[in-house]
Amino acid sequence: MGNERIHVDQFVNDLALDEASEDKNRMDKIRIYPDPILRKKAQTIENIDGRVKDIADRMARVMYANKGIGLAAPQIGILSRILIVDLGEGRGVLINPEIVEQEGESVMDEGCLSLPNIKVPVKRNEKVLIRGWNLECKEVNMELFGFPGRVYQHEIDHLNGVLIIHHISRLKRELLLKKMRKDLSKHI
Ligand SMILES: [Zn+2]
Repeated sequence: MGNERIHVDQFVNDLALDEASEDKNRMDKIRIYPDPILRKKAQTIENIDGRVKDIADRMARVMYANKGIGLAAPQIGILSRILIVDLGEGRGVLINPEIVEQEGESVMDEGCLSLPNIKVPVKRNEKVLIRGWNLECKEVNMELFGFPGRVYQHEIDHLNGVLIIHHISRLKRELLLKKMRKDLSKHI
């Protein structure tokens, strides 16, 4: 127990990328703050079926197209407890993830695809034990330290409607959001 890696579904991953290159117009869009869906709690998955696999594929397309390392289903407008992470070793999908143990603390600047051009110092646990399910309906237990653990904590936050800006004071948040809106208006 402890260091078991989550399953990487490389075949489905390749398939998703092929489809994306064929039909770019159908690609889901990243929901950007203040889209209200980002503040909602995602629902537990009852059955890991074709629909869940399809959502994971759609999430992977969006994540890779935006050069992200993690994505939660609400970020493409789906309120289901699914996250994907790729830290350079292939895509990992985790369904109904839960933090079952946590230890220690560290602070690091984080960004988020739903908050363009914003970086926020976020305090998170240094070590976490995370439990969830993979697309093969197998239970997965992961003991994670440092940065990988941070990425999973960030994505689990999304499933609970929590964004990085909710880890800082209201005043700091207002200043950052003002900056984000200014930056976004420059690109239009
Ligand atoms: Zn995020």
